[in-house]
Amino acid sequence: MKQSFAIIGLGRFGASVCTTLVETGQEVLAIDRDEDRVNEYMDIATHAVVANAEDEMALRSLGLRNFDHVIIAIGEDIQASILVTLMAKEMGVKRVTAKAQNLYHAKVLEKVGADHVVHPERDMGERVAHHLISKNILDYLELSEEYSIAEIRIENHKFVDRTLLELNLRQRFGLNVVAIKREGVKLIVSPSADEMVRLNDTLFVIGETVDVERFDEIMN
Ligand code: ATP
Repeated sequence: MKQSFAIIGLGRFGASVCTTLVETGQEVLAIDRDEDRVNEYMDIATHAVVANAEDEMALRSLGLRNFDHVIIAIGEDIQASILVTLMAKEMGVKRVTAKAQNLYHAKVLEKVGADHVVHPERDMGERVAHHLISKNILDYLELSEEYSIAEIRIENHKFVDRTLLELNLRQRFGLNVVAIKREGVKLIVSPSADEMVRLNDTLFVIGETVDVERFDEIMN
């Protein structure tokens, strides 16, 4: 279903979110106080406007509260990012995603009501690091402080040509396999216990981060 998004701040992060949303057919209002940035996105976003988001009247006249989702992608000006997040929630925006510069910034954004806080540099750094230190982990996403989801390639012959039931990852590692990616086959979502794991399959596993790491170590 088509949703409406407003993005405040067209730095690298905001611009990338904007372009991707438009490519997937969503309606996007792009807002930035910098006229050059707005001109750059005039033909990409559904609408692009020059406005200072710290000006509450400006946000109200843009009808910010009517958007399904507002993304606050202001980076360096932490004070502005916090204030705009607070105003968006006070106006009644249902879903506000805000970009944090650091841990303290993230905490404050959560306190003032952001529904989702992203920390792109840190998150991407973690994902790249996991990919670098393990030849099996293709991608990795921390879901919370304790839980992760990881894409793990199966190259260890001990895990090949055996069913999920035989591998028993839930009992042995506390991991659930949510999907299997296999070359030339449609993604196998929620595989059944009798699904056979093949060489070079990619398993999407979810579980405690320590267990994901333990599983990865055993496969190395
Ligand atoms: P990125 O890492 O995504 O490139 P950044 O973290 O360096 O961005 P900034 O460049 O500080 O973040 O801000 C992103 C954009 O937000 C800029 O284009 C800036 O003009 C815009 N911006 C900052 N404050 C406001 C504001 N109060 N109202 C509207 N736009 C703003």
